Amino acid sequence: MTYQELHQIPLIKTSLPGPLAAKMIAKDEQFTSPSYTRFYPLVVKRGYGAMIEDLDGNRFLDFTSGIAVCATGHCHPRIVEAIRKQSEQLIHMSGTDFYYGPQADLAEKLASLAPGKSAKKVFFANSGTESIEAAFKLARYHTKRKQIISFFGGFHGRTMGSLSLTASKSIQRKGFDPLIPGVSHTHFGNCYRCPVNKTFGSCGIACVDSIEKQLFRHTVAPEDVAAFVVEPIQGEGGYIVPPNEFHRDLQTLARKYGILIIADEVQSGMGRTGKMFASEHFNLEPDIICLAKGIASGLPLGAMIARSELMSWPKGAHASTFGGNPVACAAALETIALLEEGLMLNASNVGKFLIDLLHSLSDKHRIIGDVRGKGLMLAIDLVKDRTTQEPATFLRDEIVQRCFQKGLLLLGCGQSAIRFCPPLIITEQDAMVAVKILDQILSEIIEV
Ligand code: PLP
Repeated sequence: MTYQELHQIPLIKTSLPGPLAAKMIAKDEQFTSPSYTRFYPLVVKRGYGAMIEDLDGNRFLDFTSGIAVCATGHCHPRIVEAIRKQSEQLIHMSGTDFYYGPQADLAEKLASLAPGKSAKKVFFANSGTESIEAAFKLARYHTKRKQIISFFGGFHGRTMGSLSLTASKSIQRKGFDPLIPGVSHTHFGNCYRCPVNKTFGSCGIACVDSIEKQLFRHTVAPEDVAAFVVEPIQGEGGYIVPPNEFHRDLQTLARKYGILIIADEVQSGMGRTGKMFASEHFNLEPDIICLAKGIASGLPLGAMIARSELMSWPKGAHASTFGGNPVACAAALETIALLEEGLMLNASNVGKFLIDLLHSLSDKHRIIGDVRGKGLMLAIDLVKDRTTQEPATFLRDEIVQRCFQKGLLLLGCGQSAIRFCPPLIITEQDAMVAVKILDQILSEIIEV
């Protein structure tokens, strides 16, 4: 694809969905699970960088990166080459039963990147939910404690263990009871929505304080708690950045009672926030970190990094046939190289540029109730009223639909937020194009 072609984005040539896309959607709807949450009729044919082209030749500016996955952009030439080279040599052998280089190399790299001085070891899986399952099992196994605490708004996956930790939207749990026993949920440091005061702790229900004063006093003995499972920045729950004190106090509380901290960095990790791990923004040194989305530029791979001394489980206790597949590991090693060579810095710089643009947009449009995030993990909230912060879910959905029609791909999160999680390769120019489209849609909607 030429430079010129690349820069013709967005480019909408048909009504959406176009005829070819409509035909494919009809087939898909006949044969695939209705549980998928497709929000607009996009049928992707190919992607390159931050560009997505559909079956009818329409081109979109992708500010979703396949739900925060394609950090290096779609089909980055170096990732394609790494995949090609590895797949000519070895596609699968199972790292559970045999050794091969890319898995050991990646484990070494991830262990060296994780925050904190202690030695680390890595367990490989295929997805976010599997890396959470691994952490859940390891925490129980190692501590010999049964209870786990996670947070309202948290999303950790959809298999039974991680679903038990998930407390984002009740539809995700409805009908699947009984879930895994021994899980309690408590308040996340969601202070930006606090009706009393946006300052940590001043509301009187300071989240971490309430764990000790409420949960530990009334229902769960701290000595029975194996781990806190926490997203440093909540993803699906609304791109919620807690105040620094939240993680500081949680870490202190965890150390006091010998409770592990499992940081779910499935969405926030691998450079998305401008640092390799979002934990680093909060000086958080998790005992276990779970990764998946951004790690292998779109190939299925999950990883659980734990302090070596926690990996006390014996041979056979946990494994995965496909986890740590050599091709996915090769893609991950190249992804990390690209992040270190400049993409992470780009996420930080363009992220600052984009958040400034979003703040200006919020100065202009009062239906934006909040602008937040770090790096290229950013969100705006749509509200009916700024003072009450009443969520405007319908408006948010309408805006996302209209942006799609204009060639900008966005996703919602939380009750009424729009998330911006573009590939980390985007330029300031891309950010300006996206915000211009959004501005135009917001003006149209307000005029109606
Ligand atoms: N944890 C977080 C923070 C996530 O955002 C997700 C997916 O959105 C998961 C876990 C589950 O990942 P997967 O869909 O790969 O199972």
